[in-house]
Amino acid sequence: MKRFIFITGGVVSSLGKGIASAALGALLQSRGYRVRLRKLDPYLNVDPGTMSPTQHGEVFVTDDGAETDLDLGHYERFTGVSAKRTDNTTTGRIYQSILERERRGDYLGATLQVIPHVTDAIKEFVKADSDDVDFVLCEIGGTVGDIEGLPFFEAIRQLGQELGREQCVYIHLTLLPYIATAGEMKTKPTQHSVKELRSIGIQPDILLCRAPFPIPVEERRKIALFCNVRPESVIEALDAQHIYDVPLDYHARGLDHEVLRHFGMEKETSPDLTHWRRVSETLRNPDGNVTIAIIGKYVALHDAYKSVVEALGHGGLANRVKVDLRWIPSDRFDDPDADLSELDEVDGVLLPGGFGERGAMGKMRAAGYARRHKLPCFGICYGMQLAVIEAARNLAGIEGAGTTEFGDPKVPVVGLMSEWIRGNAREVREQGGDLGGTMRLGAYPAVLRKDSKVARIYGADTISERHRHRYEVNASVIPQLEPHGVIFSGMSPDGRLPEIMELADHPWFIGVQFHPELKSRPFAPHPLFTSFIAAAVEQSRLV
Ligand code: GLN
Repeated sequence: MKRFIFITGGVVSSLGKGIASAALGALLQSRGYRVRLRKLDPYLNVDPGTMSPTQHGEVFVTDDGAETDLDLGHYERFTGVSAKRTDNTTTGRIYQSILERERRGDYLGATLQVIPHVTDAIKEFVKADSDDVDFVLCEIGGTVGDIEGLPFFEAIRQLGQELGREQCVYIHLTLLPYIATAGEMKTKPTQHSVKELRSIGIQPDILLCRAPFPIPVEERRKIALFCNVRPESVIEALDAQHIYDVPLDYHARGLDHEVLRHFGMEKETSPDLTHWRRVSETLRNPDGNVTIAIIGKYVALHDAYKSVVEALGHGGLANRVKVDLRWIPSDRFDDPDADLSELDEVDGVLLPGGFGERGAMGKMRAAGYARRHKLPCFGICYGMQLAVIEAARNLAGIEGAGTTEFGDPKVPVVGLMSEWIRGNAREVREQGGDLGGTMRLGAYPAVLRKDSKVARIYGADTISERHRHRYEVNASVIPQLEPHGVIFSGMSPDGRLPEIMELADHPWFIGVQFHPELKSRPFAPHPLFTSFIAAAVEQSRLV
């Protein structure tokens, strides 16, 4: 029997609901259960694809090409289960599908209402495509009391009624603030949050309480009494030193035990957390450290580069070093007279993905600096495109080389591919069409050149990586670049789209059109990140 775990949040946002869900998924997995994690986002956008990275953080792309919430990245990293299009939805998407059906006449004249039509569509989404797992963990975005969230809360309430409590458990994440002047940990916001939840018919079974220190027995009793849960089900969530400690911490506080106890399954299995302990131990005792500069347009919100940061950390784990980050806004280097010498202080430069003109020159200059100074440099998506343009201009001497993403370059080294091939289907992008969903999205194969640096790094000759971009390096410029040591060592199988560039005469300079960070996991660091950090370790020995 498949069981549902609903995770809701209260009091304030940013309490780490996504990490809590991911960690619980990992704990259940460590007991041999199969899990699937889902996120229901109450906002009205159809997906986060068109949302500002500095407001909403990174857009996480799945193999099957969905643009999803960054929490799905946590889910994948903690459980190793690749997320799918069917794992994230929004109010916008739910309404979109209902309205499409309505226009087709599928509702046969019925008056459409939030209950039952919207809630039915949400329930369908929660239950769909999950027959192969033991647990579906379903996180509701936002906090209880948000107007947009109501249909989602109502839908999960109904599911509890329909499936019965033996198949559903409700976990609520709250905050216990500490008031220094009173010297007390306050339980009232939690009480109010649970009251709010109960007023819409949901009695939580387990409370996860973010707290600055262990909850005193008296407070725990009080929370249990007022919120109508068992004292053992009031679980404290203390600040963790590292997110990969969270599964161990939650296990120590009894979270997985309480969840399984609810279902009467607590005696069936015992967890094997060896691999989590190993990660935690490595994080605590690194052999050294390296500094990587992330030069991007959206550095004001570090979450805009969540997966990149995590993947760098995984590369650090693989090399047993701590990766320190230096965040540099790319427009700092836009000015032709900008001083880039601060890059001498770092061991590697990462040029992440991005869009538009601002900061593009800065990224190009940084690529040029790293190229000339033999500094390890990793260009991802836009970072790769701009590195290619930089090399075209300054190494191959192609005057007027640029991207059609901005300006009107004489030589479009990067431009729009109006069509490309996926499997047997030809996908055609309409210029001037909708902005949302018009990119090359999801997993595509690439063929690696034998004896290239990337073929050695991957130890493979074909790979599959996730994409999210509109523009492509123009393959017709390859013959002009390769004589200068700009090698296109990864191509789409039909040979039309450059996927990877590397510099021949450089210790480590690789640009990739895809997003390798999306597939990196703590237990399976992405080979490119492992190799990049190894190069940074080498570099740190030189300085
Ligand atoms: N702006 C570039 C494009 O659309 C790169 C996108 C990205 O870096 N994700 O092709």
